[in-house]
Amino acid sequence: MDVINELVANNEAFADSLPTQHLDLEPRRRLAIVTCMDSRLDVFAALGLDHGEAHVLRNAGGVITDDVIRSLAISQRKLRTREVMLIHHTDCGMQKITDDGFRAELQQATGVAPAFAVESFGDVDADVRQSILRVRRSRFVPHRDLVRGFVYDVDDHRLREIVVHDEA
Ligand SMILES: [Zn+2]
Repeated sequence: MDVINELVANNEAFADSLPTQHLDLEPRRRLAIVTCMDSRLDVFAALGLDHGEAHVLRNAGGVITDDVIRSLAISQRKLRTREVMLIHHTDCGMQKITDDGFRAELQQATGVAPAFAVESFGDVDADVRQSILRVRRSRFVPHRDLVRGFVYDVDDHRLREIVVHDEA
């Protein structure tokens, strides 16, 4: 069976198992999480989060792109979140490509070079530090004092915090 059909059927059972309820639009823990799309990181299970508690923004690498800043600006300015948690992880697909290589691959395949930056990285700790600084330096995001970054180990499921001493 087509995998999406299977998931639609799963949803029927999921909906049947829960009472109808309306949670508040504003996340209860006043938190936004930015992380990778990696299929091994179940954000809600790994952090003990429940529905209605946090915004979860995901992309390849958990990179702080303009679109992530857009979402954080809406999250904080319109939906009253306050803290930002960034989570990269071990064995990330973004460590296995290079910006130039993937860019060339896209151009070769399509004839068009992408307008977006690929944002691959080699050193995951360094990329978490870079991401923390990008959020802390964006004036579109009003609350920047509680921005913390972590690396999640996809094998042992533990978080390790990356601390940044921001001199700027
Ligand atoms: Zn990843």
